[in-house]
Amino acid sequence: MNEIHDCPICSSEVKNWERYPNQVCERCQSKTADAYGRRLRFSNIDLSGGLQAFYLDNGAQYSRQICYIDGRKCFAGEHRFGGIVVEVVKN
Ligand SMILES: [Zn+2]
Repeated sequence: MNEIHDCPICSSEVKNWERYPNQVCERCQSKTADAYGRRLRFSNIDLSGGLQAFYLDNGAQYSRQICYIDGRKCFAGEHRFGGIVVEVVKN
C-alpha cells in the first residue's frame, strides 16, 4: 500500500489515508475558496471535531462543504482522526 500519493492539484506528495485517496496537500488546503474566489478557512468546531467554515475577509460563516482550489471543485470534510480533509471532487 502506498503511504503517499500525489496531490491532485499541485502533484506534491501527500500522506495517504486509504479513506481519502483524493486528498489535497496542506498548501492547497490552505487555498480553499468559494465559487467566486473568496478565500475560506475550514476548521473543527472544537476539540471533539465538527466542521465549520468562515470567509477569511469578513469572518462570515460559509455553510457549504463544497469549495474550490485553483478552480478545481473540492469537498471539505471532517477527518476521521481530527482536523480537516479536503478532497478533489471527481467529475
Ligand atoms: Zn497540493
